[in-house]
Amino acid sequence: MEMEKLVSLCKRRGFLFQSSEIYGGLNGFWDYGPLGVELKRNIKDAWWQDMVTSHDELTVAEGAPSTHEMTGLDCTIIMHPQVWKCSGHFDLFCDMMVDCRAEGCKGRFRVDHVATSQCPLKPSKSPGEHGKCDLTEPREFNLMFKTIVGAMGTEEDAAFLRPETAQGIFVNFKNVVDSTRVRIPFGIAQMGKSFRNEITPRNFTFRSREFEQMEIEFFCHPDTSREWYEYWRDRRMKWYTELGLSSERLRLREHDADELSHYSCGTADIEYAFPFLTEGEYGELEGIAHRGDFDLRSHMEGKLVKNAEGCLEVEMGPDGKPKYKGSGRDLNYRDDQTNERFTPHVIEPSAGADRATLAFLCEAYTEDEAPDDKGKLKTRVVMKFHPRIAPIKAAVFPLVKKDGMPEIARDIYRALKKALHRVLRRKGRGGPPLSPPGRGRHTLLRHRRRPNAYRPDRHHPRPRLAQAMAREGRGCGRGNLQPRQLRSSRDSRS
Ligand code: ATP
Repeated sequence: MEMEKLVSLCKRRGFLFQSSEIYGGLNGFWDYGPLGVELKRNIKDAWWQDMVTSHDELTVAEGAPSTHEMTGLDCTIIMHPQVWKCSGHFDLFCDMMVDCRAEGCKGRFRVDHVATSQCPLKPSKSPGEHGKCDLTEPREFNLMFKTIVGAMGTEEDAAFLRPETAQGIFVNFKNVVDSTRVRIPFGIAQMGKSFRNEITPRNFTFRSREFEQMEIEFFCHPDTSREWYEYWRDRRMKWYTELGLSSERLRLREHDADELSHYSCGTADIEYAFPFLTEGEYGELEGIAHRGDFDLRSHMEGKLVKNAEGCLEVEMGPDGKPKYKGSGRDLNYRDDQTNERFTPHVIEPSAGADRATLAFLCEAYTEDEAPDDKGKLKTRVVMKFHPRIAPIKAAVFPLVKKDGMPEIARDIYRALKKALHRVLRRKGRGGPPLSPPGRGRHTLLRHRRRPNAYRPDRHHPRPRLAQAMAREGRGCGRGNLQPRQLRSSRDSRS
């Protein structure tokens, strides 16, 4: 499937529009139209329902080491600036970028995307390959959006839009334990907007500047953290196939050992073969990271760095005091049955709602042929969504206007509407946007069930981050923690 066809369908049928389109649009920002908002909401509802509300804490889930509890949070987008200093984002949430000084270009590129970017000069080549290209030296660019809180407008009032939802969960860990009496092992889920000032937003909604994340921070005893990591990695992979992504286009990519930070037992990305990528390439849908005790310790003690022995310690400023002081609050956990006190380890399945929506749209797009009203074969687009995420669940078509059929159709419509909420009623009209199968040009209402099973044998590891860092001439061993590593490998925030 060519991506242009999907992009055009999304606009025609009201799935996605460019933000502020009447003013020429704003790069990296997208609006969901009437069908898109239903689709994305269904995906988020399915995630919340499957991960949180319908979770059964009395039964050991398949593949889990024990029973566990799940709960939720909804935190603010703007948080105390110290949160980002202690988490490492203030210093390290950077990409390397280069500018082109050539007249007629003035392009800006992410260093690790240069090979796959296009230079605006004609004939179009990769940046640096055109005769006129004049690239600057790579330099760091922090991706957090800055804003000002309050009326004074000084640098002291600077705050940031969150680049991930995870930190809201860590800083509320104690509040959740004290207010709900959840016992370890348990997970806290949150979904909501995140913002990253991406250097080159592209590939439709895949890389946006404003997007939604669906994240879980799962707190467990250090002794069982590896088993929980494996459980979440496999559970999350299964979730996508259960909702209709084909296992042929999905893969689980375990990070290589040299991509991991020393405290981590593993990090894996769930990746999808998006149609805008070249054959054999995959784009990240979700990362599952074993983060050890890094996050809770950072918010207790202050920003952590690795010392010569490879152990985490508080980073000191030139005055010999902690560079960024932690909260000083005790975020340890005491097991009330064994009386053991420990800093829980964290497993973090971190998914993007927009990337998931895009993957489900790509997967659903199908073309087939059906006779039109005159019996002539015409190509039509059929969007084959899993029933749980389909934007419209049922449609009622009173095809004839006699023998009480419109009245019967109205009754059926009302009954269905009560049960399903999202039902479409058409007064004997064929044609777009929704039409009875085989009648109109477009049918957006076909559901499909696929026997999708997660096939571990189909998933080949691909050292994407290692390749990117090698291209930049950087190592990615423990002692060489670099900004991009912080970003791509979420367990390397230190
Ligand atoms: P990438 O390497 O593609 O930039 P990342 O490793 O930085 O992604 P994480 O920080 O692990 O991503 O974020 C978790 C999830 O949030 C990603 O798997 C993705 O689904 C989503 N996400 C991250 N950045 C963006 C973005 N710019 N636009 C849309 N979704 C995003």
